[in-house]
Amino acid sequence: MSIGVAILGSTGSIGCSTLQVLARQRERFRVVALTAHSNAELLERQAAEWKPAYLGLVNGGKRGSGPGARGSGASCLVEAATHPDVRIVVNGIVGAAGLEATLAALSAGKRVALANKETLVMAGELVTRAAREGGGEIVPVDSEHSAVLQCTAGRGRAELARLILTASGGPFRTWPPERIAAATVAEALRHPTWKMGRKITVDSATLVNKALEVIEAHFLFGLEYDAVDVVVHPQSVVHAFVEFVDGSVLAQVGFPTMELPILYALTYPARVPDAGTRRFDPVAAGSLTFEAVAPETYPAYRLGRAAATSGGTAPTAFNAANEVAVRLFLEGAIPFGRIAATIARVLETGRPGAADTLEAVLAADAGARRLAREAACS
Ligand code: NAD
Ligand code: MG
Repeated sequence: MSIGVAILGSTGSIGCSTLQVLARQRERFRVVALTAHSNAELLERQAAEWKPAYLGLVNGGKRGSGPGARGSGASCLVEAATHPDVRIVVNGIVGAAGLEATLAALSAGKRVALANKETLVMAGELVTRAAREGGGEIVPVDSEHSAVLQCTAGRGRAELARLILTASGGPFRTWPPERIAAATVAEALRHPTWKMGRKITVDSATLVNKALEVIEAHFLFGLEYDAVDVVVHPQSVVHAFVEFVDGSVLAQVGFPTMELPILYALTYPARVPDAGTRRFDPVAAGSLTFEAVAPETYPAYRLGRAAATSGGTAPTAFNAANEVAVRLFLEGAIPFGRIAATIARVLETGRPGAADTLEAVLAADAGARRLAREAACS
């Protein structure tokens, strides 16, 4: 019997890559539910091919016809995530909108293959608690965290000493700070090694993405923040290093593709044959280089690390401020340099509290968004 999968955000970069993987694994998995925000046309095409039992379009009403149930509005995400025939929920939603569905899926005992890292940053305590109490499990899709999981499979937490996550450094790695501050949207969207959605591509240019990933790693693997390091590695071939207590280090390598970490999140802890991705070739990979993170190039990265160590709702505020600032940048309302400045203002102004209830987290998120809109445009 094949395993039922729900894909939240099926029209996005992660969602489309997931369907690409599933197209090669049809005997193991079947698509039970698909959801999208507003791209009704692509969603209908996917539905025609995969015939899911449930189809959800957040913004667009119950349009279209076809077999299976249809839902709309934000509630369709939870309906898809908790569908009784679903065993694995691939959460490929961008931003805080994915939180409720992740919590619901984990509480219903399902596996969440999590690409939607913002929700683990926003509400790490709640999400990990929902998994513990509901019997669900969080398996990372993010390539760095998949690499860590692959290197640590079968090893206990007590044997782990340190993680080193790699960052490509984005398109502005070699630019002087004044030029970066004035970078255009088109320049920020020109990622050197990965093709992804717009928000995460901007996050890679500011290195906010890596700060989010440090927090993600803390909640996934239970390491203190001083045991999660980051190194810039422009080739994106080494996805992460794991140092063990005896000093030995393992790394996971491969040409950049999200299809491998997506497949692993679906089959973990097993591996299955798959011929879809380019096989690794060290000679073709060529020279691999590593550099320290330059603080003047990536001011927002330091802000994210500081919010992480503050704890409580500080990461919630960091994420919310960044989501608002990136949206304004993509709309052309603020310059690139204003993203970090906005986050800094929000973190200076707001006071972090405990992040152990949904009400507290949602209030911190809303408060930070309000502050960010004021700070960005003042
Ligand atoms: P994307 O913009 O390409 O796709 C986002 C998807 O989410 C779309 O299907 C959209 O319909 C849906 N969506 C957006 N807003 C929504 C809302 N309010 N309610 C419901 N659905 C909504 O983004 P992406 O690049 O696929 O990234 C998705 C997530 O995966 C992000 O959290 C990102 O950080 C993470 N991630 C992406 C990659 C990658 O290679 N693309 C790699 C690692 C992690
Ligand atoms: Mg990543």
